Amino acid sequence: MSGGGDDSTRKPATRLVRGGRRPEWTGPVVNPPVWRASTHLYESDAARREAGKSNTDGQFFYGRRGAPTQWALAEALTAIEPGAYGTVLYPSGVAAIAGCMLAVLKPGDRLLMADNAYDPSRSMATGLLARMGVTTDFFDPLDIDGFAALFANPVKAVWLETPGSLTFEVPDIPALCAIAREHGAVSMIDNTWASPLGFAALEHGCDIVMMSLSKHVGGHSDLMMGSASAGKRWYTALRRTAQELGQVVSPDDAALAARGLRTMGVRLEAQTRSALKIAQWLEGQPQVARVLCPMLPSDPGHATWTRDFTGGCGLFGFVLASEDRAAAARVVDALALFGIGYSWGGYESLALATAPQDYRSIMPSPDAAGPTIRLSIGLEDPDDLIADLAQALARMESP
Ligand SMILES: *Cc1c(COP(=O)(O)O)cnc(C)c1O
Repeated sequence: MSGGGDDSTRKPATRLVRGGRRPEWTGPVVNPPVWRASTHLYESDAARREAGKSNTDGQFFYGRRGAPTQWALAEALTAIEPGAYGTVLYPSGVAAIAGCMLAVLKPGDRLLMADNAYDPSRSMATGLLARMGVTTDFFDPLDIDGFAALFANPVKAVWLETPGSLTFEVPDIPALCAIAREHGAVSMIDNTWASPLGFAALEHGCDIVMMSLSKHVGGHSDLMMGSASAGKRWYTALRRTAQELGQVVSPDDAALAARGLRTMGVRLEAQTRSALKIAQWLEGQPQVARVLCPMLPSDPGHATWTRDFTGGCGLFGFVLASEDRAAAARVVDALALFGIGYSWGGYESLALATAPQDYRSIMPSPDAAGPTIRLSIGLEDPDDLIADLAQALARMESP
């Protein structure tokens, strides 16, 4: 769904509130209603045939092309993504990753994937994409010269993620994208961590940006959805491929996602503030070897993060000062205020024992190889979360 231009000079917080709320979609109420529809009815057979001649955004046709609830969400996401012409919605973040890959790659193509990419992205490269005849080379995104050398053979596309999944390194995205562009390769990025509020991926050189809306946009751990946004050329390819694949999201979920989107800015600010306070506290604990959080001034990625990002979020990791991998599980099990579960970005805090080294071909951050815990900081009081972490860390050693 391509975006309207009126608010383009307004600040992100204003665009978050206003995006997609066209009067013809909302009527007299604040939020676009839930339009549940497979069939769209026509006034006559001539009108039906006329509608079939064009395939443009915001046009009633058939449920698979959406209705105002989905159009409004897509338009709101476009409104907060600088440089985007339009946004396609998918039933999950992983479906969005697949939508990007299939819109860009064809049999015989070569993909370069950052080694710190989300594990299901890696599995898609070694599974689905390999089966369709696309070869993938994993690369260390912190090694710019090594990356440039990979273009000695033709490259169709590059898949990036920042900060890295589980290890939270911050690659120099503009430098990587500039090299890709110089060689005619398409740059795609998973921007779930920062969202466009924290990192304007298209303006930093990426051609296509995707997010899992299940995280910050939903914000309440009760829906699955994904999106991909791009300028006109790649938006057109994404939209066509999504239609060919029959991708559609339910109007109920689109309404929930749009509702989450309106408060995403304030939630991210609060979660970033708490996460930073907790990360700083963790840095001072004897049981902690290293905190993996680019928002911390001491982090190796902090300079690049400060240069490129306008905001953070509540997700970061830390490595325990222990040789025993089971120590992470003991700490997580001892926490009272953190749920144990996948996903993140909800209003409630989560903790997960992770093993980044199991998901790497190369290890860009070898010092992240110990027993590691990932925290998703919610909206609880950070002092309560710190007290909980303190009692759990005290039980780190075997009982
Ligand atoms: C969760 C996640 C995804 C996938 O999103 P789903 O909505 O769970 O399919 C993609 N990328 C990152 C970085 C994620 O954390």
